[in-house]
Amino acid sequence: MGDDKIHNLEMTEEERNRRRKNLSEKARPKAIEWHKSEEGKKWHKEHYEEVKEKLHKKYNFKCLQCGKEFVSIQKNSKYCCNACKSKHYRKTHKYIKVKEE
Ligand SMILES: [Zn+2]
Repeated sequence: MGDDKIHNLEMTEEERNRRRKNLSEKARPKAIEWHKSEEGKKWHKEHYEEVKEKLHKKYNFKCLQCGKEFVSIQKNSKYCCNACKSKHYRKTHKYIKVKEE
């Protein structure tokens, strides 16, 4: 840090101006690029969140097997998990069988 200060003092006014001009000319397009991409990213993220909300609307259900309340993105879920699904299926299947006998 200290070295820079000494260096600056040794520069002529013209040189300092030229350097400053160079710096801003080089920095500006990069800044715009960065700004653009950040804005773009932000927009995409917000837009995606919005679409995601609509695409993955969640529904509340109560599992037919264990009675546990659960959330699913499917409109007609009946079971909280596959285990409950097959369990309930076996149960109802058995029940029907028993009734038939
Ligand atoms: Zn369940």
